[in-house]
Amino acid sequence: MISLEDARRHVLDRVKVLPAVSTPLIDCAGMVLAVDLVATESVPPFANTAMDGFAVVAADTTGAPLTLDVVGTIAAGAATYPAVNSGEAARIMTGAPMPPGADAVVMVERTTYDEAASTVEVEIEVEAGNHVRNAGEDVQPGDLIFRAGTLLRAGHAGVMASIGATNASVSPRPRVGVVSTGDELVDGGGPLLPGQIRDSNRRTLLDLVAEAGFVGIDLGLVPDTEEAITAAFLDGAECCDAIISSGGVSMGAFDYVKVVLDRIADMSWMQIAIKPAKPFAFGVVGDVPVFGLPGNPVSSMVSFELMARPALRKMAGHADWFRPMLKATTEIALGHRPDSKTHYLRMEGGPDENGRWKVRSAGGQGSHQLTAMARATALAVVPDGLSVPAGGECEIIPLV
Ligand code: AMP
Ligand code: MG
Repeated sequence: MISLEDARRHVLDRVKVLPAVSTPLIDCAGMVLAVDLVATESVPPFANTAMDGFAVVAADTTGAPLTLDVVGTIAAGAATYPAVNSGEAARIMTGAPMPPGADAVVMVERTTYDEAASTVEVEIEVEAGNHVRNAGEDVQPGDLIFRAGTLLRAGHAGVMASIGATNASVSPRPRVGVVSTGDELVDGGGPLLPGQIRDSNRRTLLDLVAEAGFVGIDLGLVPDTEEAITAAFLDGAECCDAIISSGGVSMGAFDYVKVVLDRIADMSWMQIAIKPAKPFAFGVVGDVPVFGLPGNPVSSMVSFELMARPALRKMAGHADWFRPMLKATTEIALGHRPDSKTHYLRMEGGPDENGRWKVRSAGGQGSHQLTAMARATALAVVPDGLSVPAGGECEIIPLV
């Protein structure tokens, strides 16, 4: 057996960040910026008012309250507007350009407007710059706004839109083909013939791919033959950036995923010192990595979490590949007979009012018992030799 760290290093050393693609901003949330972003425009583009009110010459307000002549009204978006001279004011709406001559705004709440007389009474003294947003206060041309490697979220898209960008250069979301292998597997809801079971891994893995922010591509269900598995991998490599298979990587007589990957993908087969998800195969077809996950439903999910997801995150340009580990209080005793493996137990629970996670078993811990994995909000990490009493502290990997 090899350690999880060694297995991960082997895989992470062999996957590459996908080449950058210019992508419409509307699709960029959750993707990673591939180049430094330098501003080409000022934001705001011109000096404007932060408040509805009256644009004035600040020096005129000394000795307020006092009355000024109103020379016009300036709406947001106005292209022409009157100059404001000493003794004058312009009604102005939030976002409207500051008129020439004015250097401050008195908020409307501190004024009384006499429309008939075209005058305004200003109640307070203001300083130059009051409620004025100057050009370039947020962004100046030439500013390095966001560095390559930034995970783009809503605000980043907004800033890019504000400087007139329609696209961003990002690492694309990996397109991940998912294939199930197994002669015993059937799709859908028809009657089961003797020995058959329904394929659940493909459904789960496609959803895990989507939850991780990648694009899942259903490569179907293939029988346990070298020909079918070879065809699935070669076809998948044509249309996908990565392939995930489940099944066929153990010690069984019909575990052909290993055999095929060995032939077409310079495969490494590993026995990782973890439970569940000990067997794992990895190879690269052309430049498309193939993750051969074990078939047991819980094993395939845990293998995805621990092995495939970090590698796919690397391909997608993320700087952080692994889920964070947290300390938690366990409501059940943890520990196992010595087997040289780190166990990943399916746990329910979440943070209490102090943010401290409290976890308990999510149910049956067999690698075929998917219900507990489905309910799990975290995996408890239990290295060989560790024993934690109920109420003690353990390490968890939150899954939510
Ligand atoms: P394998 O890794 O192919 O030896 O499969 C291990 C166990 O997982 C067997 O009991 C299989 O029937 C089961 N299994 C394999 N693939 C799937 C799948 N796609 N959905 C549900 N169970 C599966
Ligand atoms: Mg099988």
